Amino acid sequence: MSPSSAASSSMHSVHSVFEHPRSAPLPHPPLPSSASSRSTPEGFIIPVVPSSDDPLVISYDSRGHRVLPNVSNTPLDVLDGRVTKLVQEHPMVIPKCANCAEQGITCSYYEAGVPCPPCSVLGIPECDWADPFWVLENFRRSRDSYFCDERDALVKSVKENRLPVSLFEREFEIRMSWFYSGAQGAINRYLLNSRATRDVGLRGYKALAASTSDASTLLRFITLGVETRVHPCVLQVITERVQDLLASMLS
Ligand SMILES: [Zn+2]
Ligand SMILES: [Zn+2]
Repeated sequence: MSPSSAASSSMHSVHSVFEHPRSAPLPHPPLPSSASSRSTPEGFIIPVVPSSDDPLVISYDSRGHRVLPNVSNTPLDVLDGRVTKLVQEHPMVIPKCANCAEQGITCSYYEAGVPCPPCSVLGIPECDWADPFWVLENFRRSRDSYFCDERDALVKSVKENRLPVSLFEREFEIRMSWFYSGAQGAINRYLLNSRATRDVGLRGYKALAASTSDASTLLRFITLGVETRVHPCVLQVITERVQDLLASMLS
């Protein structure tokens, strides 16, 4: 499947990520304030999506390190089917990561926290698909789509007298909790993925360079690497290995 078709097919599945809450409501972020909501002629508050107090944002600790949000104290398991759908959703209309777009090469998306194949093999340290800001933006888009669908369905139910007005807010809260328990599972899975894949290309080249004592082969690799845009940090590792080999030959 091409990157664009993969992105396109994912976009079509956005609305099926969290279809029907089946469990009791879980702890959840506060409902949007009245300032971000609007009243209907029927007299109930329709929440605006997204709310002004969005919990899906990155904060910083006292040392300036990025901290991903905790949006639910009852996260779904990282292997839960709904978590899998969420981390594999790609609702943003960006078929390629920034590196592949810049280089004009084919890109593909697997799931949040896993760099694309070209970035992996070229040793590029930062791929959009593993970038926490991009990932949270992706989750927000999935959420907003889900919340809008659910909100509109609840409003329709009220207007058609299938849902008492007094239960509207409660029903929307259930759906929010439903989503955020999945989102927390997705954040946890993203963390596992990103830790497992971080610098995997660079670490691989470092291991390969350390396992060869043929400086001429490494020099040919550097030449080829420059032509194929292997990341400079990889070329630096290879260069240092060549220097070590030459130094040992002269000593
Ligand atoms: Zn890419
Ligand atoms: Zn990439």
